[in-house]
Amino acid sequence: MKATLASLFAVALFVVVPFAQEKTPTPDAVLSDLRAGNARFVSKQFKRPHQTAERQHELATGQNPEASILTCADSRVPPEIIFDQGLGDLFDVRVAGNVARDPEIASLEYATEHLHCPVIVVMGHQKCGAVSAAAEAGTPPGHLSSLVDAIKPAIDAAAKLPGDKIANAVRINVQNVVKQLREAKPILSEATAAGHLKIVGAVYSLDTGKVDWLPDAAAAQKTSAK
Ligand SMILES: [Zn+2]
Repeated sequence: MKATLASLFAVALFVVVPFAQEKTPTPDAVLSDLRAGNARFVSKQFKRPHQTAERQHELATGQNPEASILTCADSRVPPEIIFDQGLGDLFDVRVAGNVARDPEIASLEYATEHLHCPVIVVMGHQKCGAVSAAAEAGTPPGHLSSLVDAIKPAIDAAAKLPGDKIANAVRINVQNVVKQLREAKPILSEATAAGHLKIVGAVYSLDTGKVDWLPDAAAAQKTSAK
């Protein structure tokens, strides 16, 4: 696994070099840009930045995305549209249920270490099919069990809370993954401790288009248990 990852990084480094001349924005500046982009999406007042031929050609020599987004593969949750961003702006890692196993963590490590991405957003969404599948009894078909196993701790925690079980599980799953990434040694944990990286959780509403930014897990658990 290590050798494979190392080769992946070596190849990726060779092919995709970040723009050394561009200054890395602070995590807070990036989050504020994402909030503004989502507000434009909600009101449908799009800017649609960075979607010109010029931008496309400029990116052929490297990339300098401002945020990594770990979100669901669900077709209704495309980060560039939800945050009104363009080419080269977001480093997307998409997998059903926005879980973080080795390939997802490795991708986020690459964005953090080599592209100097200062923010990781872990974004779940309303009525997530992967979370619903994990909540169902019995053995899921095909390869679904690998996702279900990763989401199961959130299902178990949500079972103890009042309110909508799936909505609670979606939120807790995000909080679990945020915690998992913050503790992922050595790259993500060290970048977080040094203040170079902020890892935040969010839940996207299919109804309103709004991204609800989550407080830290400990505080949120207390609030939802009221
Ligand atoms: Zn989903």
